[in-house]
Amino acid sequence: MDRTNSRKSPKDDQPRAVTKKIRPDESGRPGASNSIVRRRMQSTPQANNPLERQLRSVLHRHGIRFRTHYRLVRLPRRSIDIALVRSKIAIFIDGCFWHGCPHHGTTPKANRAWWVKKIEANRIRDAETNTILRRLGWKVVRVWEHDDLHAAAQRVVRAQMFRRHYAPRMSHDR
Ligand SMILES: [Zn+2]
Repeated sequence: MDRTNSRKSPKDDQPRAVTKKIRPDESGRPGASNSIVRRRMQSTPQANNPLERQLRSVLHRHGIRFRTHYRLVRLPRRSIDIALVRSKIAIFIDGCFWHGCPHHGTTPKANRAWWVKKIEANRIRDAETNTILRRLGWKVVRVWEHDDLHAAAQRVVRAQMFRRHYAPRMSHDR
């Protein structure tokens, strides 16, 4: 979380901050009620989290070139965590907490109803993102926070080989 980045850090996402200006859909989040919740909230993949950095470096070692936090006009108010623009492969790193992992997803006791709703909304949004991207011809690769990084990198490598082989000509409309 020490990186300066054009994106907000999770710390900025507290209700007291000017959340509305940054992300209107995130208004009204209850504050972290204890340190465990706070730590979980900070492990959000919405920023440049360690997992994303690690995956990026593994991909880099595989010779894969990519853009980060890549935006598409037709994908408003969100960005692709790691985008292989030429191959049209979109990689998302989903935190177990924020994206409701079936194995590690939990909801804080305090303000439970709010969190359940919030995490459900994230999941709906993820599904919607997948749909939009697939319609635009992108291959979507979702990596869970708990996934093995090297296995995840292999999935990307395979997807890229597949793309190169079967779909060498693609439009790159944004
Ligand atoms: Zn998990």
